[in-house]
Amino acid sequence: MTYSFRHTDPMLAGTLVKEKVKCGRKNCRCARGKKLHGWYYYLYWRDYPNGGTLKKDYVPRADVKILENAIKAAKKKDNEEKSVLQICRQLFKQLPTL
Ligand SMILES: [Zn+2]
Repeated sequence: MTYSFRHTDPMLAGTLVKEKVKCGRKNCRCARGKKLHGWYYYLYWRDYPNGGTLKKDYVPRADVKILENAIKAAKKKDNEEKSVLQICRQLFKQLPTL
């Protein structure tokens, strides 16, 4: 039971993925498997507070950089918290037993 930002900010624990898509129109070039549309950005993330189901959200191009930076910052913070936790655990193990 370790604390993780995955539970408080599940979207920031996600992954940005660049994808090409089919638009759904039958007579479009993409329907024949040629030249899909794109690139489009999607965020895949697990909804940890609600059972961890995989979710996918479209990310507007204007938000990609902002989200990328937010994800990076969240992961960095998470790693820092994990290492602090590890140091605490090690210190605790080294305590002399009474
Ligand atoms: Zn199309």
